[in-house]
Amino acid sequence: MSTTLEGKVVLVTGASSGIGEATALALSAEGARIAIGARRADRLDSLARKAPGEVLTLDLDVTDQESVRAAAAETVERFGALDVLVNNAGVMLSGPIEGADTTEWTRMVETNLLGSMYMVHAALPHLLERKGTVVQVSSTSGRTASANSGVYAATKFGVTAFSESLRQEVTARGVRVVVVEPGFVATELAGHITDPTMQAAAQKMAASMRTLQPEDIAGAVLYAVTQPEHVAVNEILIRPTDQT
Ligand code: NDP
Repeated sequence: MSTTLEGKVVLVTGASSGIGEATALALSAEGARIAIGARRADRLDSLARKAPGEVLTLDLDVTDQESVRAAAAETVERFGALDVLVNNAGVMLSGPIEGADTTEWTRMVETNLLGSMYMVHAALPHLLERKGTVVQVSSTSGRTASANSGVYAATKFGVTAFSESLRQEVTARGVRVVVVEPGFVATELAGHITDPTMQAAAQKMAASMRTLQPEDIAGAVLYAVTQPEHVAVNEILIRPTDQT
């Protein structure tokens, strides 16, 4: 028997598009009070208008520790608690290692890895209070590295490693840690790739298969966060059927 999200407080990072937006909507539809964070305020406002339940929009840049701490504090101030953190904000700037623009490496590490760690750090005291759940959005690239995604994969391997340490530190105190590893999902993610060859390859890959939709991942998150307290869904690997 699953538990309900009615009245639970969920903070979703990277909620202005893609997986984060779909997940926020899905959890709101199940009765959660949602705090939605990202940098594009207009996108958050339009999500807030669509969500059926209570919403708090947060001006959040996960690379900025002050912003992260403020987002967690504002959520607890507004809703009185924090039950679930969906740690989803991320960027993928694929390209070969040789000759790379290393500012893109910095951006990926600061957003996907450090940003995700800062969020856990800020949310953890509140999650411990509520025996809450952390959902860490990693990737199939957090399990298998491949050419032209070295730094992105490094960040996602890092998320998985950090999540396992976190799990061992907090599970006895009732906090559950879920790592979600999506394959190819149709979102804006690949649109930020600056290398034209990589951009074309991503588009070709998308056209070659029935990709996942953000709602498919939202469904997986919903499953994980509605299990009874004694059930910890630690890892969900979810790929398009057509993805080899
Ligand atoms: P999108 O580009 O649609 O969403 C990325 C989100 O991250 C946006 O809401 C963006 O908001 C937010 N974001 C980026 N940088 C920051 C920042 N510094 N501070 C706060 N928010 C930030 O892509 P997806 O929905 O696909 O990506 C969501 C997660 O899923 C990422 O972690 C990605 O690595 C992971 N993933 C995606 C896969 C895919 O195929 N799409 C596959 C596997 C994993 P804003 O720009 O408004 O700040």
